[in-house]
Amino acid sequence: MSALTRTKMPFEYLNKNDFPAKLVKWIGEVFYDILPKHGYEIREEQIYAAFQLADAVCKQKIHFTEAGLGIGKTFAYLLTAVAYGRLKEKPVIIACASTALQEQLAGAQGDIETLSRLLDLGIDGRMAKDPRQYVCDLKVNRLEKPLDEQKSHVFDDLIRWIDQTKKGERSEMPNIPDEIWSQISWDETMPCDSCSSRGFCKLIKARRHYRSAKDLIVCDHGVFFDDLWTREELVMDGKSPLLPAYSAVIFDEGHKVILPAAMRVGRQIVEEEIDGMTSFMEQLQGARTSLLSAAVATSDANSEFFKVLNQSTIQEERTNRLAVRINSELLEAADILRHSLDTLYWELQNEQGLHSLTLSATRFQIYEARVERTTTALYCFCARKGGDAIVWVDQTDGSFWVVPRNLGKLLRENLFTKKLPVVFSSATLSIGGDFSYFARSIGATEPSSSTVESPFDFLKQVTVYLFEHSSALDRENCPPQALMQLASLLKQSEGRALVLTNSLSEMGKIRVGLREYQFPFNILWEDEAERGYLVRRFREDVSSVLVGHEFWEGIDIPGQALSQIVIWQLPFPPRDPLIEARRREAKEQGLDPIIEVDYPEMGLKLKQGCGRLIRSKEDKGTITILEPVLGMPWEKVVMEALPAGAKVQTF
Ligand code: SF4
Repeated sequence: MSALTRTKMPFEYLNKNDFPAKLVKWIGEVFYDILPKHGYEIREEQIYAAFQLADAVCKQKIHFTEAGLGIGKTFAYLLTAVAYGRLKEKPVIIACASTALQEQLAGAQGDIETLSRLLDLGIDGRMAKDPRQYVCDLKVNRLEKPLDEQKSHVFDDLIRWIDQTKKGERSEMPNIPDEIWSQISWDETMPCDSCSSRGFCKLIKARRHYRSAKDLIVCDHGVFFDDLWTREELVMDGKSPLLPAYSAVIFDEGHKVILPAAMRVGRQIVEEEIDGMTSFMEQLQGARTSLLSAAVATSDANSEFFKVLNQSTIQEERTNRLAVRINSELLEAADILRHSLDTLYWELQNEQGLHSLTLSATRFQIYEARVERTTTALYCFCARKGGDAIVWVDQTDGSFWVVPRNLGKLLRENLFTKKLPVVFSSATLSIGGDFSYFARSIGATEPSSSTVESPFDFLKQVTVYLFEHSSALDRENCPPQALMQLASLLKQSEGRALVLTNSLSEMGKIRVGLREYQFPFNILWEDEAERGYLVRRFREDVSSVLVGHEFWEGIDIPGQALSQIVIWQLPFPPRDPLIEARRREAKEQGLDPIIEVDYPEMGLKLKQGCGRLIRSKEDKGTITILEPVLGMPWEKVVMEALPAGAKVQTF
């Protein structure tokens, strides 16, 4: 160990064998002595979580750390992350679930800055934002002013901003709608490797900045998986991967990794993108007939494929990911599209070689990447008659997604077997301390785990009301009774309630049913405004009630505004293709998919929902579940998802 490295360490140690013990000693000093001098209370749960995590990281384990709200888990993992990164002389990656959480951690006055100041650590932690959050100069040069007058104002603001901005980050222009932002932001078809703006482009500068972080790189889950899935290929091609070499990974909100992991390894096929490309080619001046014919054939195959695809989707209102019925007609349409794209690709390359003036090099590279991406997806889909892929149609934009079925295996090969500490930190990873469902979902074998209960006194702070099986409300046959019960609960608590449903249509039934009741408080319905706005109103208008199916997690309402949670329905999972794949896997192993998948999925979501109620030591409230629980097969799962120690009363 060099003297230079040692001076950078927050504590002295003799050698790498001595490091774990000294790390634990230092963590103890920080939590018992140093932080209390700055007004922080000593929380045994936090210290226990920090010790467990330090041990797992030093032993390079895959570790699940489940810590309830109020533990202070961020400081608990940051201490080990900084020390371990310095030991290994490579930064530790902290992967967050959203840009907002990245900012909370690594932004001005965020947790990293605070800890660094309090402990005088000089932590060098930098944010690696999603590249889609940056302006791409090449796209800006191609931007055309919209004819629509309202959009044209936004466009003018945007141009003024682009002229002035140094960073080119979307956070500087938060009001730009997605549709306009996507016209100027980086996307994966941009030919950065050969771009003439590369030396001074804002995205590349941002990348250079975070790549030289010494201690921590704070990215989001998407960026982490973008890097993970492309790293080996880029390194083999002699290129730099998105993230530099790192010594450990800590996933904040670790329960949310599956979707970004799947989406970043998967491929998206967008009908309009292929259409735009083929239309452009059909209008190319001087292009050879064979290219024009290939473009027309691809355009026809594209329309046919999406026509058959849309006829094959299975409607499900509770998820944006619509499952697809795979049949021979669909596979044939996919195969025809794939072949026509192959031909188009070949013609494109010929065209480029023969008539370079008809197609700019940049556009050629963009189209080449688009065709490659689409054919890869279609190959994956057509293999083994769709048996190797998880596919869905995104309801929001109609695009078709193809994701390899073996996500767990990919994670094992690319991450879990790399002799690297990988930590998943979250408030909801287990059901009653059993982490096996989450472990199976991500393909982790033999992870270590620790559970630290929240420091709140749930016995005093929470009362749960449940129905006996025999007296349970049967909404199918007796909706007025359930509505009467709900209305009475809302009156008793004088509003101040969050009502959680399983779907928008169920919320609609409640809205219709409650019309006949007069309440002296406002009811906010999920579909009447943007989610962030509704949550703000719910927080500010203390007596209001918020109803919807999208508030099971991610909302934080301390104080009286949220004094009651009413679970209108237990959150059993929808027919989502990612969950269907797990059900199928369970079935193939001779297990019952309802017990192995549906129950744990429901339990984890219920635990998230119940976690909305108590956000501080002063909060008090009730949780009422208006669906049968006691005496039902899922009773144990529900009981384990409730706040530990809460008082339970039955009707
Ligand atoms: S290097 Fe990439 S992001 Fe930057 S201007 Fe060029 S294409 Fe756009």
